Amino acid sequence: MCATMQPFRLAPLALALALALAALAQSVTAQRDASAVRWYRGNLHTHTINSDGDSSPYDVMGWYKRHGYQFLVLTDHNTFTDPAPYDTNPNDNFLLVGGEEITNAKTVHVNALGISRVIPAQSGGTATELLQASIDAVRAQNGVPLINHPNYGWALTVKDMLPLQRTGLLEIASGHPLVNHAGDGAVPSTEQMWDQLLSAGMRIFAVAVDDVHNFREEFTRDRANPGRAWVVARATALTREHIVASLNEGNFYASTGVALKDIRATTDSLTVDVEPPAASGSPSRFRVVFIGREGRVLSVANDNPARYAFTGTELYVRARIEDSNGLRAWTQPVLVPRSSNR
Ligand SMILES: [Zn+2]
Ligand SMILES: [Zn+2]
Repeated sequence: MCATMQPFRLAPLALALALALAALAQSVTAQRDASAVRWYRGNLHTHTINSDGDSSPYDVMGWYKRHGYQFLVLTDHNTFTDPAPYDTNPNDNFLLVGGEEITNAKTVHVNALGISRVIPAQSGGTATELLQASIDAVRAQNGVPLINHPNYGWALTVKDMLPLQRTGLLEIASGHPLVNHAGDGAVPSTEQMWDQLLSAGMRIFAVAVDDVHNFREEFTRDRANPGRAWVVARATALTREHIVASLNEGNFYASTGVALKDIRATTDSLTVDVEPPAASGSPSRFRVVFIGREGRVLSVANDNPARYAFTGTELYVRARIEDSNGLRAWTQPVLVPRSSNR
């Protein structure tokens, strides 16, 4: 064993990723019973007329129900919307999850996923203090905290996030037109930020969200419309407890349009099975980019399934699936056991 990994932060990462690995392994086992494990598509960042959205919670839920989603978290600014009056049909294969966007000073926004009562804006002198206070408030309700749009207003840096404890999720893709996820070259992209946090040993999983506000009038690129970015969670049942647990354990992938059939992690490899695009006159193609420590590209595969065999030096391995029209999916990182004999 080599001691170059950072022991301070490795323990939580090791634990988190071992849990993710265990969850994947468990899911694969459970999948042999075809009815046991399913993929559920959901949006984790949603505004309604309860804050600055333009439609009622009921209408917003209706849009997602009609467009191939199975769950939705309502996240109005500093407002908790109880799902109970809206999610009244237990047999419609659709779940509304309670949530909120904790909207603090300094444009520090943290989504509280799976909470059951309102969390007020938090106090703190720095972005780090505001983030940590928000995360703690979400964890106190057994919810999952999601750090929203770090580059919106250029509000958050990796340095702000590195000291955080009990992190959960990080937004790296969004349908919102003003969140600057790609960075500007000097400021890293949010996906690069994610690699920097992972490389420092942080437990954090990445999500894609709509951050939707606009369901009325025309859908255009400069409006925050629905259906652009989502997560697909693997769970044994469509309940709040199961979905929140899958999010917390990294048992999901993020997408802006690429669908995955399966993700398989073992102690020595990561395999990604892509759902082939529908046949057409100009079928899209895709490649699977395997990525490790500091965002290094480890390999690029056109095979399907695509498999990457660990060498033992990566720290973690994740995959970004890119299609030829710019759509993407991202798997969560798998911890690679460091081995001197590989
Ligand atoms: Zn926000
Ligand atoms: Zn928002």
